[in-house]
Amino acid sequence: MQQKIAKSIKAILTQIGEDPRREGLVKTPKRYAKALEYLTSGYQASVDKIVNKAIFQEKTEDLVLVRDIELFSLCEHHLLPFYGKAHVAYVPNGKIIGLSKIPRIVNVFARRLQVQERITNQIAAELMRVIQPHGVAVIIEAYHMCMMMRGVEKKNSFTVTNCMLGNLKTDPQVSQQFFSLLEKTRAQNDERDYSPVSFSSPKTTEFGSVLKVGRRDGPLLKDQIRRVKSGKKDLIHSLR
Ligand SMILES: [Zn+2]
Repeated sequence: MQQKIAKSIKAILTQIGEDPRREGLVKTPKRYAKALEYLTSGYQASVDKIVNKAIFQEKTEDLVLVRDIELFSLCEHHLLPFYGKAHVAYVPNGKIIGLSKIPRIVNVFARRLQVQERITNQIAAELMRVIQPHGVAVIIEAYHMCMMMRGVEKKNSFTVTNCMLGNLKTDPQVSQQFFSLLEKTRAQNDERDYSPVSFSSPKTTEFGSVLKVGRRDGPLLKDQIRRVKSGKKDLIHSLR
């Protein structure tokens, strides 16, 4: 499969006016094919295999929330990435699932061509199927490159989708508990910045630091960033 994809990518490179023989591009079709195979490996993955032996009998009926699960997927309309985080909760009904399995279930569906609405529903439905809990809630917050780099070019808007099943949908008290837990824990641990370009070490990555500051701080810094972008000011100095 990789070979066929690589061949097509080579043709695309020519079609956009590039020379696929030049040094930097010679291996690109192969690399891309490999990357694409990984990014769509969810088609071959099986949730049942993943949760095998990781479901345990447990009497608790208290809400379990795994939040801030990193999510990277490809939008099926443009084949461009969308990324963000997923929050997954469930109310056990005699069974619990190994916590690390939840992010892995997320990946099964993220590594496919997706729309955010569908992946949200698929994760919820699969959890419902494999542990038959009283209820499931999935919230996904994501940035879509197809919106940010092209089209409307809305760099700071993100999309939130949710799917509530079982008593998390029907019992207002339970869903209220879920949302308040989600809010409470956000304040404590939400240090990460999901701005369009966010890097882990802003000091060494110039655009990381710029956009990070720009999103969080007021108009003064935003103005500095604008000037940096238009080349009127040295980046590092402007941030000091
Ligand atoms: Zn798209």
